[in-house]
Amino acid sequence: MSFEPSEKVKKLLGRVAEFMDAYVYPAEAVFEEQLAAAKNRYKYPPIMVELRARAKAEGLWNFALPERLSGLGLSLSEFAPISELLQRSELGAEACNCYPGTIGNILLLDSFAGEDVKQQFMWPMIEGKIRSCISITEADVPSSDPTQLKFPIRRDGGDYVLTGKKVWATASLQEECELLLVFGVTDPNAERHARHSLVAVPRSAPGVSFGRIETVFGYDHAPYVHNELFFDNVRVPSSNIIGKEGAGFAMIQHGLGFSRIQLGMHSIGSAERAVALMCQWCDERIIGGKPLSDRGVVLDAIARSRIEIDQARQMLLKTAYIVETHGTKAARSEIAQCKVLAPNMALAVLDRAIQFHGGAGVSQHTPLAAMWAYQRVVRIGEGADEVHRETVAKLELSRQREARAKAAG
Ligand SMILES: Cc1cc2nc3c(=O)[nH]c(=O)nc-3n(C[C@H](O)[C@H](O)[C@H](O)COP(=O)(O)OP(=O)(O)OC[C@H]3O[C@@H](n4cnc5c(N)ncnc54)[C@H](O)[C@@H]3O)c2cc1C
Repeated sequence: MSFEPSEKVKKLLGRVAEFMDAYVYPAEAVFEEQLAAAKNRYKYPPIMVELRARAKAEGLWNFALPERLSGLGLSLSEFAPISELLQRSELGAEACNCYPGTIGNILLLDSFAGEDVKQQFMWPMIEGKIRSCISITEADVPSSDPTQLKFPIRRDGGDYVLTGKKVWATASLQEECELLLVFGVTDPNAERHARHSLVAVPRSAPGVSFGRIETVFGYDHAPYVHNELFFDNVRVPSSNIIGKEGAGFAMIQHGLGFSRIQLGMHSIGSAERAVALMCQWCDERIIGGKPLSDRGVVLDAIARSRIEIDQARQMLLKTAYIVETHGTKAARSEIAQCKVLAPNMALAVLDRAIQFHGGAGVSQHTPLAAMWAYQRVVRIGEGADEVHRETVAKLELSRQREARAKAAG
């Protein structure tokens, strides 16, 4: 296992760094201004349209998709440093069509969708013409356990019919979103892991409507807001099923290894930005006649942050290595460990950076508060900390039991 990026990745990293410096960081304030002035907050503001067009034209696009899907074909460990760099800004991944949900949905369609669904939705997603939403969560069901979800998807002749409500359907309200991947029950009598299916629903289908928008510590995350989604006798052809009937649970687990590792890289990117801002601020802020960075408490905070970021990065790279060499199943404990470790690390680092910025740290004048709010969500989405700790503990117990049994002969 090497920590040295390949020549190809080094070159790409240089180009991504230039793109971030020249276009993405300067776009952050413009993005906020354009959204604040927009009549419709639920579509890309012009600056994001520009960023995406530039990234695509420069070939900084779809890094993690295989070449047969017009991607750059990077492996997970090759993509890791690039994904981390993109996430130093909240705009980076979206600009390069590399938002975790986008990559995850494209890979899901590639593996399991029929040809019509691929032509209608997957290829336009790859080209960046449309966006998608995956809608799993329900209001009255603990959605950490998807086997409990109740939303009905009824078979009626050659169609599926959907009626009910989903919540937290990120990006479904966005004008560029054309595909809703909806998770629901097709056979309530089946074994609990075989009850659910996933179907592709055009966002424009008659009977689809949108409800209340949820905020995250007051942020609405426009244009990709999180909202209720209503289905009133929405009818789609049975060919819109993704994979086989009853395979919904297995399919949503399929891509989670990748997206959990990518979320970890995002946590590291946010933490790196926080340290950079903390160091600059503490060098420039003169208090009591000397810079903040001369004080022991600040040195301690910077050192802790560097140690924790580097630990998390090594854990993520090790996990990516196991996934690539032995498969996702072999890395189950490590993926769960990363999912807990990375956002908690980022939250600690962000909190220190916020603290030393004083009032500026909690304001809109730095990206720190928004990054903290985003990282806080990562401790809940795609499996809460407790769920992943349980996985780590159960795997550890069984490993220890096997070792004892082997030693006892
Ligand atoms: C900003 C944001 C965006 C989102 N985007 C989407 C989206 O695009 N699509 C979508 O479908 N959903 C989305 N979600 C929903 C998200 O996936 C769910 O909130 C998450 O799965 C948790 O489900 P829940 O809220 O029902 O919490 P519950 O399942 O009720 O869990 C509540 C808490 O119980 C504890 N807990 C749960 N299980 C265990 C356990 N086994 N052991 C110990 N403690 C446990 C944890 O502390 C957990 O946080 C989003 C959520 C947020 C906040």
